Amino acid sequence: MATLEVFQFPYMSDNYGVLLHNKDTLETALIDAGDASAALGALELHGWSLTHLLLTHHHSDHIAGMHEIKSQTHCKCYGPQGIDGVDKVLSGGDSFVFADSEVQVLHTPGHTMDMLNFYLPDQSLAFTGDTLFTLGCGRLFEGDAATMWESLSKLIALPPNTWIYGSHEYTQANAKFALSVDPNNKALQQRAKQIDQLRAENKPTVPSKLSDELETNPFLRPDDADIRTLLKMPSEPDEAVFAEIRKRKDNF
Ligand code: ZN
Ligand code: FE
Repeated sequence: MATLEVFQFPYMSDNYGVLLHNKDTLETALIDAGDASAALGALELHGWSLTHLLLTHHHSDHIAGMHEIKSQTHCKCYGPQGIDGVDKVLSGGDSFVFADSEVQVLHTPGHTMDMLNFYLPDQSLAFTGDTLFTLGCGRLFEGDAATMWESLSKLIALPPNTWIYGSHEYTQANAKFALSVDPNNKALQQRAKQIDQLRAENKPTVPSKLSDELETNPFLRPDDADIRTLLKMPSEPDEAVFAEIRKRKDNF
């Protein structure tokens, strides 16, 4: 089984799109379609032909370019129910093969109720949309904290060496907030410095390793004793601690 080539490109103010390419089968997938010209430009740069378009959720910064991309490339569009133009509706628990690699579909509602994430176990890649970001998680527009916590728990259960591709570059702001609830976390302190360095050089902080998120992303750490002490929530359920962390981030 070939290792897929991965090309991440920025669009709009802080979004990322990703191309996956198999140089043996010549198949190419695009994750999310917020900006047709950015995506078509990335394809042209590599000389790749788009065969698959995978959509995470219905927000316009993830789908606005879909119709143009489809008409220019004749790709097949996979995504959640309810989006006009999706050829193959997916739901959590589904899996399919892209370019000889298995793609597992995870339903991770919270930010939106339709949110799908794509996990490629033999590539150690997970596309987490607006559910899990580097050092952060998505805002709760449609689901409640309990729903989001259950969704994040599905991602926490992936192998720690999985690369997490969130859809936005929000990391510097996320790091500042993370330090406010987990100030004594040495790994987080160090990571915040690395992130400032990367951003000063205009480099992406996405993807990140799940193992690093587990050590430093407060939204994945409601069981942490220091965070619980700071929040004065020593024995509440993880879900309640997560809800408090999310609420604080909204007001940060
Ligand atoms: Zn969104
Ligand atoms: Fe988004």
